[in-house]
Amino acid sequence: MNKKCILCKTNDVYAIKSHMTPAGIASGTFGKRHIEEIYTIDPNESTIDVYFGPQNKQTETTEIKPEPHTHRGIFCKKCEDNLALYESEVQTKLKAIIDNIGKGTEIKRTKSDTKYLELNIHPNILQTFFQSIIWRQCIDQVIKGKDSPLDESELEAIRVKILQCIYTNPKEITENLFTDNHRIALLCTYNKNDPNDATFINPHIYKTNPQLFFIGTILLLYWNKDEIDTDFEKKTQIPPEILESDLQLANGLLILINESQWEKIMKLLVKTTASIYNKSKHPK
Ligand SMILES: [Zn+2]
Repeated sequence: MNKKCILCKTNDVYAIKSHMTPAGIASGTFGKRHIEEIYTIDPNESTIDVYFGPQNKQTETTEIKPEPHTHRGIFCKKCEDNLALYESEVQTKLKAIIDNIGKGTEIKRTKSDTKYLELNIHPNILQTFFQSIIWRQCIDQVIKGKDSPLDESELEAIRVKILQCIYTNPKEITENLFTDNHRIALLCTYNKNDPNDATFINPHIYKTNPQLFFIGTILLLYWNKDEIDTDFEKKTQIPPEILESDLQLANGLLILINESQWEKIMKLLVKTTASIYNKSKHPK
């Protein structure tokens, strides 16, 4: 029997390489296509693997490796095409918005002074696109035999939802606002348009509620339940007071944090990763 697509579970897969975090949204993370340098760090196994794009002028290795965050032959042609349709509805517009933060884009403030932007992309399209990234980042973990922050039944519920959404044309999907959204919030900061700036693509090492996902220049939070974990700030460095319930993706908004807050979040991720790495490399 032929291998079936992991999204629709019906059609046969076709042999193309699929990006688990879409290439357009990750472009600011990996640098210029084909000369990229990508580090895959597995702190639990104490391994660091480096991937060089085929045209990278590196002299370290001649080994040809598969590109990280991609898998070949997991989707059927129709699902891949439909996912791409939603990617093209979001990515270029979103990248332009992020590149222009602080350069004339209108920044609004809530009563308690949290900054945010209006994305002007239909919430149903944003919801479909970002849920597909959450699902793909978790599935990438599962395929690699690593821990996924969302369990099997949560992933299955998202799969069914995405499948239904991407098989609806982007024009039709905007007719009625979704009413069954899980709360999702996006965070970004200033000056995130430097392609040489290192960023991350992965779910956070710790399972938290909301769950934090790194999508290059964007941080995504996904609520599985309403309450925010009491140790959420300690584990992520994201202050819960900026997570006002109106500032969510279902309202088409992006939360803006300052650069020092952003750095704190990144530093803690690196520190946590390094600490787990060291503990697994040198067990007591
Ligand atoms: Zn399919």
